[in-house]
Amino acid sequence: MLLEGPICNPCFDAAVRIFGTCPGCGVERLLPGLTAGTAVCRDCAGIARSFTCRRCGTEARLYYRKVCVRCRLDDLAAERLDDGTGTIRPELRPLVPVLARSFKSTPEGRLDWLKRPETRALLHALATGKVGLSHAALDELPATALVDTTRDLLVAAGCLPPIDRTLHRFERWLTTRLTQLQDHPYERVLRQFGTWHHLAKMRTKAAQQPLTTNAQTYASMESSAPSTSAPGSPTKKSPSAAFRKPRSTATTSGSRPRTDRRSAGSSTGR
Ligand SMILES: [Zn+2]
Ligand SMILES: [Zn+2]
Ligand SMILES: [Zn+2]
Repeated sequence: MLLEGPICNPCFDAAVRIFGTCPGCGVERLLPGLTAGTAVCRDCAGIARSFTCRRCGTEARLYYRKVCVRCRLDDLAAERLDDGTGTIRPELRPLVPVLARSFKSTPEGRLDWLKRPETRALLHALATGKVGLSHAALDELPATALVDTTRDLLVAAGCLPPIDRTLHRFERWLTTRLTQLQDHPYERVLRQFGTWHHLAKMRTKAAQQPLTTNAQTYASMESSAPSTSAPGSPTKKSPSAAFRKPRSTATTSGSRPRTDRRSAGSSTGR
């Protein structure tokens, strides 16, 4: 009987994920027990411990307060968006079901993501209004996979309007570059070409269809950069450095919450 006596975390984790028709009683349910090498239900295995969620009645691995992963996600999503007074700002309420259910990850992956300290901090900042509910406010934060994912979730929930990612990345890059180039002779060139020519073109295009790649954009910026320093420019900085492609931000897959199975051993894990 698998769940009687000492059992290591990976074995426990594996045992509480097996669902099927019990060969002992013919009932389709969780099969955490082991009899003669076959997975069986807890009744047939004689396991006293219950795996029934106290809220929804599903038989599964149980988390904090003896609820299943989906019920735990509902709780944790609401907790994360609590503004500190036990309530959630009305404009953030649509995010709760999205955090709990809608993003492309396993329930365990979503739970791990919500438990991360950095996720908790960002959601708390949004919940309390320390970080405003706008794309511009998110742009003020360091560009991380966490911010990308959170932005996507806010868009999915309808809390923020959709944006064209390629266009947005280019806008951010341009703003950063122009700030870095203050007083540099190429600031003017980049401002003219980047803002008035290229960005305007991208905006028009993005209004018609999603922009698929930004590689071409940066390439054309490079080729349009002068190959020698401007006359009278004291700087040795390569002119094309002004047009350097930004470090590519997180890919779509990289921004997904990870599933960390190592932490999945305890039935009361939160
Ligand atoms: Zn083991
Ligand atoms: Zn059975
Ligand atoms: Zn449940």
